[in-house]
Amino acid sequence: FAKPHQRYLYLSILFNILYSVLNIFSVATMLPILGLMFGTMERVDTSVAPSYSGNIGDYFNYLKDLAYYSIQRSMDQYGAVQVLAVLCAITAGAFLLRNIFRYLGAFLLVNYRVKITRDLRSAMYTKFLNLPVSFFTEQRKGDMMSRISNDIGAVDNGIMGSLVDVVNSPFMILTSLVTLFFLSPELTFFSLLVFPVMGWIISVVGKSLKRQATSAQEELGNLFSLVDETLKSSKIIKIFNADRILTNRFEKTTQRWQNFAIGMSRRRELASPMSEFLGSVTILLITWFAGVQIITEKSMDPETFLVFIAIFFQILDPAKKLSNAISSIQGGMASLDRVSEVLDYDLKVGESASPIDPKGFHESIIFDKVGFSYNPDGGRTVLEDFNLTVYKGMTVALVGQSGSGKTTVANLLTRFYDVTSGALLLDGINIKELDLKKYRDLIGMVTQESVLFNDTVYNNILMGKQDATQEQVYQAAKIANAHEFIMGLSEGYHTNIGDDGGKLSGGQKQRVSIARAVLKNPPIMILDEATSALDTESERMVQLALENMMENRTSLIIAHRLSTIQKADLILVMDQGRIVEQGTHSVLYSQNGMYRKLVDLQNFG
Ligand code: ADP
Ligand code: MG
Repeated sequence: FAKPHQRYLYLSILFNILYSVLNIFSVATMLPILGLMFGTMERVDTSVAPSYSGNIGDYFNYLKDLAYYSIQRSMDQYGAVQVLAVLCAITAGAFLLRNIFRYLGAFLLVNYRVKITRDLRSAMYTKFLNLPVSFFTEQRKGDMMSRISNDIGAVDNGIMGSLVDVVNSPFMILTSLVTLFFLSPELTFFSLLVFPVMGWIISVVGKSLKRQATSAQEELGNLFSLVDETLKSSKIIKIFNADRILTNRFEKTTQRWQNFAIGMSRRRELASPMSEFLGSVTILLITWFAGVQIITEKSMDPETFLVFIAIFFQILDPAKKLSNAISSIQGGMASLDRVSEVLDYDLKVGESASPIDPKGFHESIIFDKVGFSYNPDGGRTVLEDFNLTVYKGMTVALVGQSGSGKTTVANLLTRFYDVTSGALLLDGINIKELDLKKYRDLIGMVTQESVLFNDTVYNNILMGKQDATQEQVYQAAKIANAHEFIMGLSEGYHTNIGDDGGKLSGGQKQRVSIARAVLKNPPIMILDEATSALDTESERMVQLALENMMENRTSLIIAHRLSTIQKADLILVMDQGRIVEQGTHSVLYSQNGMYRKLVDLQNFG
């Protein structure tokens, strides 16, 4: 995800290097300023210009001598106060430039961060759209929601938010260390002691921090699932007075989340005080060592010591930030794992390498010895030796008791699931070989629960065919027996229908779904209990709509009310995943078998 935006990172690193170098420069100019103030400057010999010995170790001293020499000469010429003013002005300029670079570096990094986070979120959303149906029966929706919001948020905060420090701190530390080394190798040795200790602490704390973060994010996922369920089922919760049970469950989940979140923060908050303490210890070590040198041997200028300490303080801050960043990243990593779990889900399982374009539906759909189980590793077989040939233009009905496998047949035809054994052929080609999107273009579906989106009626219908004209949308609504009631809504076609179409009645929702399917105009139509959730009055309206729609189409009707399927060309009676009877209504009814029993049962009911 970083790749397309890499240039932001590289540029930012460049600016951060410039920033670090200027930072050292601006601190180094303090050296002669202090020298001026303390009067130690006088010791420089102004009669001969300093020369470079050629030894790399002396280079810094040479620069220092050269600077002192030039300053000394200027002082003789213009006076100490003026030189001090100029030096301060130069330092101020360096500080200004340094902070401009800092801003540029941070600004570029923000771009990098936001763009990656956005891409990550888009990728996850696209993945959601393409994941197979089986994924969503295994995973809870709330947890998925939590991943796309909370976990990506945590990645953004934890990893991307720490990027500024990760990019900047090493350069700050490095340039400072190099300078320190030139100032005083012995003192630098003491300052280095702090790093391995700090590194060890960070790695120990980081590991357990990541564990806690993973658990915390998982609990957050549970929380979202619970909220998702609660919001969806408010009526049921009220009528069962289930609020106490749910509150309890919510409390328990938040309690567990709280424990992990505290555990995580406790570890993260350790980073700062520990690195600060280590820093202070180091400063005291340095002060002690330098103090002894200055007092007893006078081998060190006081201003060198002051600048050394000043630069060392400059290391402490980035070091602290770096250790904080590393622990934040550990937390972010836990979330990144959860995000990757979804992003890395392999969609290509069972997909043909070179999918065929079906180019319409011309002859037949054949279920050839189809067997199916929702859980192929040892699960119960739901369909067994299911054979069916549907020729173009036929209306085939599936009947049978609840749980006999009717919806499963529809699930296989739509390729929501793939057959476990046998094959499903469209015009003689195994549907696994076909381009999935183009294949699904051939199929329309209306189910018991109409699924509508929180949008206008118009846009809900338009989903059937996104480039349809207004005329076509109206036409579809008329065929679906919906045009009249839609016109009667407060804002006609542009009325918002609420979440899940909550502002419409069951029959109205169903007719909008049918209009949507009509607009798509697919050659194959599946109706799964499309009228069973309706009262008799709206059922009649919907039934008419369905009959309009099924004209000139190949249809698979799954029906609970047997009165609706008497005109079907072929009726299959299913029992426990097998076809037990088949034929037309009159033939089956006269057979005195299961079909007759089902019909008679309903007529008495
Ligand atoms: P029908 O539509 O005839 O009422 P289904 O085809 O929905 O029956 O279900 C057939 C069987 O498959 C039932 O026993 C049901 O428990 C099982 N089943 C349905 N969906 C799933 C699923 N997603 N995972 C596991 N088992 C399922
Ligand atoms: Mg069903």
